[in-house]
This record gives sequence, structure tokens and C-alpha cells, in this order.
Amino acid sequence: MKEIVLLGSTGSIGTQVLEVAKLHNIKVKALSAGSNIKLLEEQAREFMPEYVCIADQNKYSDLKNALSDIPVRVLTGKDELSELAALPCNSVVNAIVGMAGFIPTLTAINAGNNVALANKETLVVGGEIITAAAKEKGVQLLPIDSEHSAIFQSLMGSMGNKLRKIILTASGGPFRGFSKEQLRKVTKEQALKHPNWSMGAKITVDSATMMNKGLELIEAVWLFGAAPEQVEIVVHPQSILHSAVEFEDGSVIGQLGMPDMRIPIQLALTYPKRFNSPAKPLSLTDIGSLTFEKPNDDVFPCMNLARTALKKGGNMPCIMNRANEIAVKLFLEDRISFLEITEKIRWAMENVSFSKELTSEVILETEKETEKKMCS
Ligand code: NAD
Ligand code: MG
Repeated sequence: MKEIVLLGSTGSIGTQVLEVAKLHNIKVKALSAGSNIKLLEEQAREFMPEYVCIADQNKYSDLKNALSDIPVRVLTGKDELSELAALPCNSVVNAIVGMAGFIPTLTAINAGNNVALANKETLVVGGEIITAAAKEKGVQLLPIDSEHSAIFQSLMGSMGNKLRKIILTASGGPFRGFSKEQLRKVTKEQALKHPNWSMGAKITVDSATMMNKGLELIEAVWLFGAAPEQVEIVVHPQSILHSAVEFEDGSVIGQLGMPDMRIPIQLALTYPKRFNSPAKPLSLTDIGSLTFEKPNDDVFPCMNLARTALKKGGNMPCIMNRANEIAVKLFLEDRISFLEITEKIRWAMENVSFSKELTSEVILETEKETEKKMCS
């Protein structure tokens, strides 16, 4: 029986990881959440883990009291969260949102644990450090992000043949086809209505700005050792082809399926085996047509910001990522407009100290400086 440690268990990905765990009798050794103690308590009662950890220290005593009748160790704090990532297990599933997931991922790898990674921000801020550590420790870094799972699956059995190109598909989000003028007036409610996927608020806004594809471009470069120019972003509104790779002979291999995160989540937990899934089977004749178009970089400049950050290297992707997290939060609090998200990111990339050298310490300092400069 497999045993996992699940970080970010109360979120959109976290709850679907638990559905998969229940279906396939995967044991849950530890659960953690940011602040939702009500759901964390319910999950602890159902899955009976050895540990639970709540990031929000103000919620610790309420959670501890609520769980006093069951044999579970209740923890709080960043160091404790990382302790969970180092527990011996078959896989640490990182479903935390934002760069708060970076240190737990690195800790899991350094402890010799395999990682099933939904937290793309980990690779955006420190892809070089993470992939080098995974290589050194000989652990698996399995993507949960649907596009990266698709690329990974397309490469399964490629016998070391070189890939020419990665075709990274994007739904285009709720504002596909909009002009800049139309984007000026869009609301939070509109941005939170994704046409194909039901996800956490941050990634849903990232999909609306297309920063999600920028983050995924960086994620793909690190996971698959590709050059940024080898990654082509293609808008595919139906979200059925989850991404593809092109080999040197011109063959394109892709992975298709209904847009249901339980498919890539499950494969990351059971790899290399595949088991039955509650996801609806794909009927190509019901879908009818699959369409593809070029992304509009003028209206959605975040993809190019990500390319610029990647080219500059060092801590620039970290600055861009943290600025995006802060700007999205401000947008969700109705403090800035939709278009100001991009302006804020651009401003941070020009005003936060650049460091060519990248270490974990530089990443944490960059996080702090970006917060300080953007919020003062
Ligand atoms: P979410 O907001 O629904 O859930 C986030 C989880 O992280 C929650 O359990 C929350 O309590 C926890 N958390 C938040 N801040 C924390 C902190 N500082 N310390 C510890 N825990 C914290 O987000 P989500 O949509 O599930 O996304 C999670 C990650 O997966 C993101 O990186 C996202 O980009 C990626 N992802 C999500 C989807 C999706 O379908 N939701 C698809 C692909 C990739
Ligand atoms: Mg994705």
C-alpha cells in the first residue's frame, strides 16, 4: 500500500488528491492546510493521518482542541510544514498555492522523497535548484499540472529520442478574443469564471491574464530540460489535447482526455501504472471539433514577461512570480483593476534588486523585498 504526505489538502487540487487516495486505498500519513481548520478537521477524521499541520498559527489551538479525541499530532509553522515533507513516505504531494511551496518541495527532495508536484510556483522561483537536487538525490519529480503531465506522458517510451518542440496548450481563459479596451472593464467575478476548469482563485485569475501559461512555460523548461524557444504556446479552447511533443522526424505525440484533474493527479500517485478513474471518458464525436489558434501577446503580455524573466535568469522569475501573487491578491481584494496586475508585475521586474546568482536564501530575500517594495 502506498503512503503519501499531502500539503495543501483543503484546496482544489488537495481535495481531489484525497478523492483519488480514497478510491485506490492510498494511505495518508500527513495533511496540511493554510487556514481552513474546519475542512482540515473533517479530513483528519476521515483519513486518520499521523500528523496535521496548519500554516496559520492563530488557528492552531482551535484545531488542536477540535482534534483532541483522535490520535493525531497537530503542528503549526513553516518549519513544521517542512518537517512533514521530510517524513518517510512513497510520495509528497505538493498542492500548496504560491511560492510558499518552494521550501517544502526542496525539503522533501533533500529527504529523499519522491514529489508529485501541483505547485508550479516551486519550479518558477527555483527550477534550477529543484531539478538539480532531484537529480542528485535520485528522486522522481512527477508533474500534476495537466499540461506537464501530458508532456510527461507523451515522452513515456520515447527511448531517449530528442524532442524538437513542446506544444503547450492553453484554453485562453474567460477573456479569449477580448481587446485591450474590453479588458479595461472586466470584473473579478468575470475573471473567476473559467470556461473549462474549476480551480482555486489564484490560478483562475492567472488563467484570465494568461500568466498561468507564462508560469507553465518556465515549469516546462525546467521539468523537460527544453530551451524556452522550443516551447510553443497554442490556444486550444476545448482543453481536450492537454499538450504534445514533436520529435525530430515530425511526429507529434499528445495526450487527450476530458479536462478533469483527477486524471493527472492519479497518474502522479500510481505511476507507472494506470488504474480506473471516476473521470468521464472522452468521446471525440461528442466534442466534435478541436480548434487551435495563436495566443495574442499584445492583449495578454504576461507570456512574454515570463519569457523575458527566463532569459534574464537568476532571481527574475522569482520577482515576476511573487509580484504576480501579490498583484492577484490585490485584484481579488478589489484594490487594483485587471490590467493593473500586469503593470504591477512589470514594475516589480524593473525595481526589485536583480541577482544573477540563485540560492534558496536569494529566493527568500527576493520574496521579502518584492513584498516590501510593492506594498509600501
Ligand atoms: P487552492 O487555493 O484551492 O488551494 C491551496 C492550498 O494551499 C489550500 O489547502 C491552502 O490552505 C494551502 N495554502 C495556501 N497558502 C499556504 C501557505 N502559505 N502555507 C501552507 N499552505 C498554504 O489552490 P489550487 O487551485 O488547489 O492550486 C494549488 C497549486 O496547484 C497551485 O500552485 C496551482 O497553480 C496548481 N494547479 C492547480 C490546478 C487546479 O486545477 N486547481 C491545476 C494545475 C495546477
Ligand atoms: Mg495547467
